[in-house]
Amino acid sequence: MQSYSAPLNDMKFIIEDFLNSGAEDTLFKQNDIEIEDFNFILDESSKFCEEILLPLNQSGDKEGCTFENGKVKTPKGFKDAYKQFVESGWQGAALDQKYGGQGLPYIFNVFFDEMITSSNMGFGNYPGLTGNAFEAIKKSASDDLKDLYLPKLATGEWSGTMNLTEPQCGTDLGLSKAMAKPQEDGSYKLTGTKIFITGGEQDLSENIIHLVLARTPDAPKGIKGISLFLVPKIIPNKDGSLGEENSLSCGSIEDKMGIKSSSTCVMHYNDAKAWLVGDLNKGMKAMFIMMNGARLMVGVQGLGMSEVSYQSALYYAKERLQGRSLKGAKKPEMSADPIIVHPDVRKTLLKMKSLNEGIRGLIAFTALQVDVAKYEKDKFKKQRADDWVALMTPIIKAYATDIGSESANLAVQMYGGHGFIKDHGVEQFVRDARIAQLYEGTNGIQALDLVGRKLPMHNGRLLRSFFHEVKEYIEENAFNYNLKEVMPHLMKSFGRLQQATAFIASKGLSDPEEGAGPATDYLKMFALTSLAYVWVKYIDISNRKMNDDPKGFYKAKIATGTFFLNKVLPETGALMSSIMSGASSYTKYEDDFFKSSFS
Ligand SMILES: Cc1cc2nc3c(=O)[nH]c(=O)nc-3n(C[C@H](O)[C@H](O)[C@H](O)COP(=O)(O)OP(=O)(O)OC[C@H]3O[C@@H](n4cnc5c(N)ncnc54)[C@H](O)[C@@H]3O)c2cc1C
Repeated sequence: MQSYSAPLNDMKFIIEDFLNSGAEDTLFKQNDIEIEDFNFILDESSKFCEEILLPLNQSGDKEGCTFENGKVKTPKGFKDAYKQFVESGWQGAALDQKYGGQGLPYIFNVFFDEMITSSNMGFGNYPGLTGNAFEAIKKSASDDLKDLYLPKLATGEWSGTMNLTEPQCGTDLGLSKAMAKPQEDGSYKLTGTKIFITGGEQDLSENIIHLVLARTPDAPKGIKGISLFLVPKIIPNKDGSLGEENSLSCGSIEDKMGIKSSSTCVMHYNDAKAWLVGDLNKGMKAMFIMMNGARLMVGVQGLGMSEVSYQSALYYAKERLQGRSLKGAKKPEMSADPIIVHPDVRKTLLKMKSLNEGIRGLIAFTALQVDVAKYEKDKFKKQRADDWVALMTPIIKAYATDIGSESANLAVQMYGGHGFIKDHGVEQFVRDARIAQLYEGTNGIQALDLVGRKLPMHNGRLLRSFFHEVKEYIEENAFNYNLKEVMPHLMKSFGRLQQATAFIASKGLSDPEEGAGPATDYLKMFALTSLAYVWVKYIDISNRKMNDDPKGFYKAKIATGTFFLNKVLPETGALMSSIMSGASSYTKYEDDFFKSSFS
C-alpha cells in the first residue's frame, strides 16, 4: 500500500532545533515571517499533498498521459489538482515578492517538494521547473522580459520548461544544433528539435514558457557558442494577455518506465519567436542558474521517493504476519508475528529511515545556505554559503537519488512477492524513482562535476566551506561528553575523506583518468561523511533535549543516529580501499577484454 503522512515533526525539528537561532534570522526575519506562520503554511501544504495529490498517484500512473493532434492530456484529476495548486498560491510561495511571490524562505520549497514527490512525483514535475525558470529569468533577462513573464510564472498560471537535450546532444551540450537567427526588432527566430522536454506540452497551465539553448549563426563552435532563449508557447501581448500562438509544436510524447503522469515531449521549434536571456554565447551561465536549482530539487525528489518507500515498507512490516521472533512469540494471540520482529527486516527499515532523516538535514542546511548567499551582508559569510551550495549540489543530486532508488527497491523487497504486484503500489516507486538518477545530468556526471570542477575551483575554496565547518565543529566539541561515543565515527570518516581528497587531487594532476575514475566512490564517501556530520549534530541536540521528551522523539533520534554511524557509515571504509587502489584496473583494461566470448 502507498502509505504516506508528511514527516512534519522531523521538518519542524530541523527548523527549530537543527538550524540554530542565528539561522532563524535569515530564514524568517528577512521577509517578516514568523516561525508560527511558517509552520502553519507547512501544515497546510502537507494537507494538499496527502489529500489531493496522493490519491491521484496510482491512477495517474495507470492512465498516464495521452497524445492526440499535438495536444497532451494529463490523467484524470490532474487539471483540478493543478488549479487548486495555483489558486492556493503554492507556486509562488518561495519566490520574490517583487514579482508576486510570497517570499517564504527557500527551505519551504525543499520541504514542500519533498512532500509533493512522496505523494505524486509525476504531478510534481509540472510545477517543478517553473520556479527554476523564474529564477533564471529574474537573474539574467532584460527588465521587459522580467515584467512580462515573472508575475504569471509566480502564480503558476504559466509554467516553465528547460530545453537542453537534442537527439544527438545529451550530456555533451556543445553538440547542440538548434539555431536562433537575429531579427531586426531585437528578437530571434529559433529552429530545432528538443527531446525529453518535461511538461513541454500539457493541459494544465494557460501558457508554457520554454527556456531553450541554441546557437546563433556566427557563434563559436561547441559549448562556448551556446545562448539561452525564452520561447513562449503563446506570445503574450504587452499587458500580459495571451496573443498569437508561437511557431512551435509537440511532435510526440515518450512511453516511459515511470513518472507516466508527467509528459516527456519532443518539441519542434520552427522559426519560433524567441528572446535572448542573458548575454550572447553565455547561455550555459544563464542556464546553470536553472540547472543548479533543478539539480537540488531532483535530489529532493530522491529523498521524497525514499521517504514514501520507507513509510510504505514500515506499514507492511507491521501488518504482515510471517514466522516467529527468534526470542519467542511477540504476538502469541496471532497466527504469527509481524515481520518487523525479524532482525534483517529491522535493519532494512533503519537503513532507509536513518538515511532519510540525515539527507533531509543536509538538504535543509544547504537550502538555508541558498538564503544566506542571497541575503547576507557580510561578504565572507555570503561567499562561504555560496561555496557550500555549489559543492553540495552534485552530492545531494546524486546521492539522494541513488538512495531514492535503493529505498524503492528495498520497499519492494519488504513486500516479498506482493511487492512485484501492481495493486500494492510499491513497484511504482521503483519505476518512478529511477529517472532521478538520470535526468538533470546523470549521477556519473554529477560525480565528475564534483571531482573535476568543484574540487579544484578557486584553489579548493569550495571544499574548504565544508572542511572548515566540520573541522571547527569537531574541535569545538572535543570535550563534549554527550558525543564521546559518536564523535570518533565522524572523525574517522572525515579523516578518510581528507585523505581520499588529497590522493585524488595529486593523482588527477598527472593523469586525469585517475581523478575521474574514482569520482562516484568519492561522491558517496563525501555524502556519507556529510550525513555523519548531520547525525552527530542531531545526537548532540537530542541529548540536550532528552529531559523534555514526552513522545520519545529525541530518544528515537539518538537511536537512529547510533544505527547510522555504526551500520551505514562504515561503507566509507570500503570506498576508501577502492579509491586508494587507483583506477588502472579499469582504465588500462584492454578494450578487447570486454568481449563476452573469446571463441
Ligand atoms: C523522463 C525524462 C525527462 C527529461 N526531462 C528533460 C528536460 O526537461 N529537459 C531537458 O533538456 N532534458 C531532459 N531530459 C534529458 C536528460 O537530462 C538526459 O537524458 C540526461 O542528461 C542524459 O543524457 P543522455 O540521455 O543523452 O545520455 P548520454 O549523454 O548519451 O549518456 C549515456 C551514458 O554515458 C555516460 N556519460 C556520458 N558522457 C560521459 C562522460 N564525459 N564521462 C563519463 N560518463 C559519461 C552517462 O553518465 C550515461 O550513463 C529528460 C530525460 C528523461 C528520460
